[in-house]
Amino acid sequence: MLTTAPRGTRDILPEEAAQWQYVESNIRQCCLLYGYGEIRPPLFEHTELFLRSVGETTDIVEKEMYTFRDRGGRNITLRPEATASTVRAYLEHNLYAGPQPVKMYYLGPMFRYDRPQAGRYRQFSQFGIEAIGTQDPTMDAEVISVALDFYCRLGLTGLEVQLNSIGCPKCRQDYRQALLNYLSQHRGQLCRTCLSRLDRNPLRVLDCKEEGCQAITADAPRMLTYLCSECDEHFKAVQECLQSIEAHYVINPALVRGLDYYTKTVFEIVWPGLGAQAAICGGGRYDGLIEECGGPSTPAVGFAMGLDRVLLAIQKAGAAVPAAKTPLAYVVALSAADNQEAFRILTRLRRADIISDKDYRQTSLRAQLKAADRSRARYAVLVGGIERTQGMVAVRNMTTGEQHEIPLDQLITFLQEGR
Ligand code: AMP
Repeated sequence: MLTTAPRGTRDILPEEAAQWQYVESNIRQCCLLYGYGEIRPPLFEHTELFLRSVGETTDIVEKEMYTFRDRGGRNITLRPEATASTVRAYLEHNLYAGPQPVKMYYLGPMFRYDRPQAGRYRQFSQFGIEAIGTQDPTMDAEVISVALDFYCRLGLTGLEVQLNSIGCPKCRQDYRQALLNYLSQHRGQLCRTCLSRLDRNPLRVLDCKEEGCQAITADAPRMLTYLCSECDEHFKAVQECLQSIEAHYVINPALVRGLDYYTKTVFEIVWPGLGAQAAICGGGRYDGLIEECGGPSTPAVGFAMGLDRVLLAIQKAGAAVPAAKTPLAYVVALSAADNQEAFRILTRLRRADIISDKDYRQTSLRAQLKAADRSRARYAVLVGGIERTQGMVAVRNMTTGEQHEIPLDQLITFLQEGR
């Protein structure tokens, strides 16, 4: 147990971490272009926040939260998602009093007691954006466009944007009743979880992954035919905006998303190559959430993207990730007596911003040169011998084998010019 990470968690070792850093730098660049500032909310919140926002009849709240009492008796939950925290921060810091919309992004770990499998973990990373304070349909399209531009930067193709509208509380009321009537006729075929949720929140049945329930919901009434004129117009405008920027999408009338706070636009982005865990991004509008959390009535829209799955997708697709940087110089001590001087020179190189390394095993010249080769350094800097007494070092080009003797005080310039 001491040598195994808890189920559903994993270590990301340096080689893979380099890919994560590449993905993260693209996220930051995208958000900069689109005007989203970073928010870093805490990793845990009062449990009540998620009960209120995510919804009491959702899988997240019913089955998946890491909830505990802290030593002060507070009811705490490790965040299963970060929209709730962003909204809480928006209210806590009176951001509604400043210019609107407030556009923020976040990046970091989320925690859900999910059933682990490839692409599904108990600790996973999400990148999300939230635009709070506007109902403009161009903002719905912008949010989708941020995700698509990000995938484009990564060279990820073959994505499918699925779009739907789940209306507002007004039009959803009629739909809810129609759905309830339909599902009630099929009670016997629903799974236990759906049965228990049916009267409280029939929309959740549409989101169930059980085969039996999916067979029933395939013929269920569709929300799109119940949209009120305002929701219908909004949905049409969002589609026109997407078409105008050549963002391709398909309408999926069965899409409802697994969280209660959504209104109007909902969407999911799928990369089919990931099989069962193909959803790499999900989002939509949540015009009622800020009020639900005790703030002024404020429209908002956003998405959350699963970065573990994005990484899997770029690995599977063989999309190019820049190679990890290799050292420019590898410092070699000709004898044990030169080890300390080698270390001193190495430190000077690093302080001059030159990526460099040395061998720490105090081995033979041959073994050190082998290590230099393995590190894929461009140059070996040989410290010792007669050169050392003359204030010189020998610099060997590791590709050509060419060797120069260089005065120590010119080493940095020499390496920088050869960079
Ligand atoms: P959600 O917050 O449920 O809308 O999920 C948004 C995205 O987060 C999904 O499309 C997935 O890409 C990702 N995601 C959700 N749950 C997990 C999980 N347990 N492991 C890995 N990624 C996840």
